[in-house]
Amino acid sequence: MGVSHPVVDDDWLPREYQIGSSGQTVAPKLYFAIGISGAIQHIVGMQGARCIVAINKDPEAAIFKVAHYGIADDLFKVVPILTKLLSDLKAR
Ligand SMILES: Cc1cc2nc3c(=O)[nH]c(=O)nc-3n(C[C@H](O)[C@H](O)[C@H](O)COP(=O)(O)OP(=O)(O)OC[C@H]3O[C@@H](n4cnc5c(N)ncnc54)[C@H](O)[C@@H]3O)c2cc1C
Repeated sequence: MGVSHPVVDDDWLPREYQIGSSGQTVAPKLYFAIGISGAIQHIVGMQGARCIVAINKDPEAAIFKVAHYGIADDLFKVVPILTKLLSDLKAR
């Protein structure tokens, strides 16, 4: 799990979780950008991911320009559905 700058600023998680220019650079096979606007300082830390899936309620969000797959909807609606789908797949 990684987070954006505001999450660290608000003390939800320590700095080592931050992805981006002043945080970590990651290149996972699959990166879920959930409620991430797509600021360049974040993008530089994760653009090497093989597959980027973005979930953002703003269809104009910059993250959709770098995402391979995009879901323009409320994350509180989408994430529980995805979580259930993935755990069902894992249970097979
Ligand atoms: C010198 C400097 C260094 C920086 N370094 C970093 C860095 O290393 N890492 C980093 O991340 N940032 C860094 N930043 C900050 C960066 O510029 C952005 O401010 C930050 O990345 C924004 O984080 P965010 O996308 O989580 O938040 P926001 O820009 O606030 O975006 C939140 C997004 O969530 C969406 N959203 C909100 N509610 C929902 C919902 N219910 N469902 C779906 N979507 C929703 C909104 O549409 C919005 O696009 C740096 C800035 C500076 C000046």
